[in-house]
Amino acid sequence: MDVTVAGAGPVGLVLAAELALAGATVQVLERRTEPDEGMKAGAINVPTAEALDRRGLLPAAERIQREQLLRVGPFDRRTGGGRRTTRPRFTGHFAGMVLDPDLVDWSDPDLAAHTAVAGARMVPQRELEELLAAHVARLGVTVRRGVEVTALEDTGDGVLVGTTAGPLRTGWLVGCDGGRSTVRRLAGIGFPGTGPELTGHLAVADIADPEKLAEGWVWSPRGAYRHGPQPGRVVTVEFGGAPADRSAPVTLEEVRSSLRRVSGTDVTLTALRGPATRWTDNARQAASYRAGRVLLAGDAAHVHPPFGGQGLNLGVGDAMNLGWKLGAVVTGWAPEGLLDTYDAERRPLGAWVLDWTRAQTAVMRGDAGSAALREVVADLLATRAGTTYAVKKISGVTQRVDLPGGHPLVGRYAPDLWLNDGSRPADHGHGGGFLLLDRTAQGTFARLAAAWSGRVTVVADDRATPTGVLVRPDGVVAWACDTADPVGLEAALRRWAGAPSSAPGYVPAG
Ligand SMILES: Cc1cc2nc3c(=O)[nH]c(=O)nc-3n(C[C@H](O)[C@H](O)[C@H](O)COP(=O)(O)OP(=O)(O)OC[C@H]3O[C@@H](n4cnc5c(N)ncnc54)[C@H](O)[C@@H]3O)c2cc1C
Repeated sequence: MDVTVAGAGPVGLVLAAELALAGATVQVLERRTEPDEGMKAGAINVPTAEALDRRGLLPAAERIQREQLLRVGPFDRRTGGGRRTTRPRFTGHFAGMVLDPDLVDWSDPDLAAHTAVAGARMVPQRELEELLAAHVARLGVTVRRGVEVTALEDTGDGVLVGTTAGPLRTGWLVGCDGGRSTVRRLAGIGFPGTGPELTGHLAVADIADPEKLAEGWVWSPRGAYRHGPQPGRVVTVEFGGAPADRSAPVTLEEVRSSLRRVSGTDVTLTALRGPATRWTDNARQAASYRAGRVLLAGDAAHVHPPFGGQGLNLGVGDAMNLGWKLGAVVTGWAPEGLLDTYDAERRPLGAWVLDWTRAQTAVMRGDAGSAALREVVADLLATRAGTTYAVKKISGVTQRVDLPGGHPLVGRYAPDLWLNDGSRPADHGHGGGFLLLDRTAQGTFARLAAAWSGRVTVVADDRATPTGVLVRPDGVVAWACDTADPVGLEAALRRWAGAPSSAPGYVPAG
């Protein structure tokens, strides 16, 4: 195999699919024999939904959201300002302060530029993993369950990997094996950051006396809890350090006593409905996302508490960024230094997410200073500007990577661009590869890009601005312009798509 991916969580699956689309041979090794049934992410952000869209998976994701809304029932939440909202528009929360959708300025240019995937935001992690497993299966990727990576040796021209099913040789090894990554440890990559101050739980339980619990987030000197939005769903946050045994399964008694401590009630939980989850606010980032032929992505590269729902999205972003670049390396067309841009582009976003969650921990502590800070933040979030700021950050619409080029779109995720036939560029590139939108009257950009026809799909449209946009396989805009002058386009193509080639670089999705 060109590439072996350790871990079939959401990040490993997205990465495997992107590598397969880029023409690499890839296998996934997963130590679990069955998918993880634990409760984790409940929703995805805009860049993740747009990544699904670019691969033709939007209709399936929209179906999941519709089913999810039926399951959850009417949206009825109390916002940070204490108002009730029943609007199903997805906004999220900051430190438990639910962001009021009615306060958001949805006409803000950053938000208005990314609305096409609005119907695919409430996609829970378990359903997302099912969708991705079917996607990689369609692409012919083998997922070997019950196989654990236990050793590795980078030989310079490949990696010798020790597994519970025997040794194997691979060109590259990518650790998508979660926060306690074996691959990271075996590769000797440091994991600096801040240690845990709190332990959290997420569970759906049968509650004999739910009237003892208040609605929305409730704080106490010991921590906080939340009951809802659907009956029986409880979240607890307790300051007091890490749990004694982080590997032990979460029991009913553990969730019950945590909820009793933070609520100050004798509420009675009689059963857990499905596996519960335990987490901490450990916030760490790998010292490097690459050591020779070993790379890291997802939780293996960064961990932090789940406040505000960022981890899965950050990891999917890593996988989308790395997939086409590593694919280009193994299929032989990668321009000089392409793989190094993975760490350079993704590390700042990872560092931002760690700080975003640390800020929430600071606001959630039980001491008087944090309580006072919470009041200030709540006041700010009760304003239109404050809520819009937080929603833009959480939804991912302001994310950008530092790329050369003067146009404001460069380095950002491609916005919704509706074409005259009613389609969008994303509808035309489900097989991966680069997309070039050409809206010049004479097809100037298309003519220039014809030399890269194996890697670049050209979409022509009538005149409008921007007149030209070059989108990388991960959805990031590499070049854009508002005139018919192709200045900078050839340099951008050479920089990202390598030397001109009409050889097929991407395998059309099935
Ligand atoms: C309670 C909770 C709520 C969350 N909510 C959100 C949210 O709303 N939004 C959000 O974006 N994120 C959220 N997250 C974070 C999100 O769940 C993680 O960031 C995400 O699961 C990371 O995906 P991953 O593929 O990197 O790692 P994982 O999902 O941990 O997958 C790693 C896989 O690797 C396998 N593995 C481990 N070691 C080996 C080995 N040696 N060999 C082979 N396989 C191995 C594991 O079995 C596992 O299947 C939440 C997390 C928790 C705990």
